[in-house]
Formats: sequence, structure tokens, C-alpha cells
Amino acid sequence: MLTIERGLEIVMSTAKAKDRADWMPVETVQLQESMHRILREDVFCDADSPRFDKAIRDGFAVRFEDLGEIPAVLTVIGESRAGVAAGVTVARGQCCEIMTGAPMPAGANAVVMVENTERLSPASVRILKTVRLNEGLLRRGAEARQGDKILEAGRSIGLADIGLLAGAGKASIMVSRKPRVAVIATGDELVEIDEEPQAGQIRNSNTYTIYAQVKEAGAEPVLLGIGRDNLEDLRRKIGRGLEYDILLVSGGVSMGKYDLVETVFREFGVEVLFDKIAMKPGKPTVFGHRGNTYVFGLPGNPISTMVSFHMFVRPLIRFLLKAENTGPKVLHATLDAPTKCDPERAALVPALIRFDAGRYWIRTAPWKGSSDLAGLARANALIMIPRRSGNLEAGETAQFLLLE
Ligand code: AMP
Ligand code: MG
Repeated sequence: MLTIERGLEIVMSTAKAKDRADWMPVETVQLQESMHRILREDVFCDADSPRFDKAIRDGFAVRFEDLGEIPAVLTVIGESRAGVAAGVTVARGQCCEIMTGAPMPAGANAVVMVENTERLSPASVRILKTVRLNEGLLRRGAEARQGDKILEAGRSIGLADIGLLAGAGKASIMVSRKPRVAVIATGDELVEIDEEPQAGQIRNSNTYTIYAQVKEAGAEPVLLGIGRDNLEDLRRKIGRGLEYDILLVSGGVSMGKYDLVETVFREFGVEVLFDKIAMKPGKPTVFGHRGNTYVFGLPGNPISTMVSFHMFVRPLIRFLLKAENTGPKVLHATLDAPTKCDPERAALVPALIRFDAGRYWIRTAPWKGSSDLAGLARANALIMIPRRSGNLEAGETAQFLLLE
């Protein structure tokens, strides 16, 4: 059976082989709508930042040389406030009142905080504490220089980036168009969430978790409803789904008599590249492609679906978006208690993670298997238990994925 790593390699090499420069296309969004989108242009600083020598304290702009002896009384010769420079030159024995964000007057080379001063009269102030050269101010260009590349294409736009882009005058930004991802849940036992399940029925939860995962990954989910476990209905739904960039079908991919999804994929000419992964949960994961569409059959059990999505679908979406980081974010922790490994399959198990004494500690959380969403909700991580015989011992390092 294929390892997770090999499965992921197949997905990514298929995507690379199909990759074209115009895929995904670029679109322009307003800055305020750009959070978490993937940047598709390099962004350069349009001016030095800060644009001028700037006070970062409220107080008095001074010559630090005048404060060799403290307290010192200085003559106040003007006021510089944010947006309005003082237009004075500070000479020996002088200072200029100044506010945070205001331009430094010529001649001054430090700012004394107002808390360390005592105003004696409109024209004089007593300075109670000495300052170092350049204390309380930022020199022009200290953060970035005009023409510096401040952000690179491929980056996921974060909060600081939005502020940075605003400062650089970028009202609109080029980002990747979102891939459109069709989502089909399958199963004769499924009813919608606003319905009351009858005997033997359950509510469809995968559509909603997949929807959230697709959004989080940066793509646009399109819900195609529930496909029933018969060829006609699956053909109808899967036929529609193949018109999208990615088609995700949950359920109907294991060994049961009514697991017909892979059959219908093949009928439609989907080239199936794998249909099993040595992973627990998530073994019956199907991946294939047809034309410009990537196709996944995700195992029906709710946690299996999530894990398979995370390991295989999310990296593909990130690749289509031309994001610089495609892989899952794997962290390391020290194991609290021994955990049994499986020589056949790598396992991803709900776990509890805590941060103590400078590092992460992890232990598995109680759960009842791959449909136990309540157990998963009590956990805050998925521990990755490697495929091998024996135990992962307490004190050993284990990899984990953080759940949000
Ligand atoms: P399957 O892969 O179709 O054999 O489904 C495996 C298990 O997952 C069964 O217990 C299904 O009832 C359950 N399941 C399948 N699809 C969903 C869904 N959309 N929401 C919740 N549970 C599901
Ligand atoms: Mg089923």
C-alpha cells in the first residue's frame, strides 16, 4: 500500500505536470478583501519607511549632547506635531516640543519622553533624565527603503501584510483566483442537517466540514448535494462535478457492495492513480484526474474525510493557488506516554497538546474511532504515529498537526 508521502508525491507531480503559467489565473481584489489570499505580484516600497526622521514618543526633541548633566533646563523653541513639522533648527541649549509621529526638527537627535520632564514655562522645560543618541525616534528608511521588495508573490497575505500594503499605497492587489471545488456527499443513509433522521439514517456532516476545509485552504466550495448509492444518481452528480477544478466525493470508496464512486469515476474516463493509502484513518482515499479536473474520493467516516483532505487535497489547492507553502504544517512534541504503532499503516490520532517548560508535550486523546467527532472535538491536535512495529516510547519526539 502507498505511504502518505508517496501518495502526496503522486498528487503533486500530477499537478506539476498539468501546471501552466496562466493556471490559476490572477484576479484583482480590494486590499480589505485580500486577507489569506495568495499574492501574485512582488510588492515594492514606494518610499522610505518612515518617510522622514520621526518621533516615536511624546516629549521634547533635544540634542543628546546637552543632557550630560541632569537635570538640565532647555529653551522650548517650537512644536512639531504629527502632520505639521515645526520648521525650526534646534541649537545648543534648545529643544522642540514633539508628538509621536511628528517629523524631527533639524538639529535634534533624540526625544525625551514627556514623563521625564517638568514644564517650567511656555518657553522652558526641565529635563529629568538623560537620553542616548537616536533614542525616541526612528530615522528615515529604518524600516524599509524605497524600492525594497517588501512582499513576494506566493505569500499568503496576513494581517501585517495588509497594513504594509496600505502603507505602500496598494489599494488593490493581484491574487490567485480561487479554484472551484465541487463537493458531493454520498450515502443512502444520509439526511440533510435540518431533517430528522429515521431508523438507520444519520445527518450529513461531511459536506459541512469539507466546505469549511475548502474555504480555509483558500478555494471556493460548490455544494452539489447528496448522491445516492446507485449508479444513475452518482453519474448525474459526478458528471456535474467534473466541470470544476477539483471534485471531492465523500463516502462510497471502500469495499462495500454499494461503494460505487470509483466505478463511476472510471466510467467518466477519470484516470485513477491510487485508491488506497497506508494511513489510519483514511485508507480508502482515491485520487485521479480527467482533463483539467482533479478528482478525489474521500473515505466517508467524518474524521477520515478530514484527515484525507488535510493530507492530500489541501496541498493540491495550495499548489493551484501558487502558494509558496503547500504542505501541512507539521510540528514536533515530546510524547507523554507510550503509544502503540501499527506496522501496516501510519496513524493520525486525536491528541492533547500542551506547552510546558519551553516545549510541546503530547499524548493521545480518548476516542472511539474514525466517526467519533465528539472525541475529536475534545482534542486539540492530531498526532502522527509512524508506520512501524512496537511502541513510540514516552520521551520520544512525535510529529503532530495542530487543530484550530
Ligand atoms: P462509506 O465510506 O460510504 O462506507 O461510509 C463510511 C461511514 O461514514 C459510514 O458509517 C457512513 O454512514 C459514514 N458517512 C458517510 N458519508 C457521511 C457524511 N456525509 N456525513 C457523515 N457520515 C458519513
Ligand atoms: Mg456509503
